[in-house]
Amino acid sequence: MNTETMTNRQASTSLIIGRFQPFHKGHLQVISKIAAECDQLIVGIGSAQYSHTLDNPFTAGERHAMISESLRDADINNIYLVPVVDINRYSTWVSHVVSMVPPFGIVYSNNPLTKRLFHEAGYEVRGAPMFNRSVYSGTKVREKMLHGNGWEELVPPAVVEIVQRIDGVGRLRELAGME
Ligand code: ATP
Ligand code: MG
Repeated sequence: MNTETMTNRQASTSLIIGRFQPFHKGHLQVISKIAAECDQLIVGIGSAQYSHTLDNPFTAGERHAMISESLRDADINNIYLVPVVDINRYSTWVSHVVSMVPPFGIVYSNNPLTKRLFHEAGYEVRGAPMFNRSVYSGTKVREKMLHGNGWEELVPPAVVEIVQRIDGVGRLRELAGME
């Protein structure tokens, strides 16, 4: 990317991508911190085309609701939420993302491949801080949903409400029986 042609708004806009299956308190903490550091934060909802599997139980629309309602409750307003489907082709991943989201200048990630791809494309890449990762992880939340012990503590209240409304736990348990 040519930094001389970058607008000020673009330079101060950041991007973070996750699958958010589901959105948990670790996600909320990292987004709160980054959103406070930049003017606008784009949150990409990755693997947007997947739902109804054990690893990706929730639709992009359900995840969009989980994130937007949690951020509204936390009074975080400088966010663009954009679903991004996988393309399974690393060489064109950055241009695919760029085609789906507003202009940005900074990328937050801990994934070495993501960091390399955006770095090679000329973006500023920053590590994203982890919060209590041994407790707050999507995998752990899904495991707890399957086994019925305390998943509700790991996610924001809005996510508890949405998962209950759509019978997300019933969906996950049925999928586990089917797979
Ligand atoms: P899964 O176990 O399903 O992979 P996950 O918790 O790793 O879920 P992802 O949906 O894969 O979450 O999203 C990854 C993004 O979320 C990354 O940017 C990662 O840095 C961030 N993230 C995940 N857990 C935490 C946490 N506890 N604290 C801060 N950031 C987190
Ligand atoms: Mg992950």
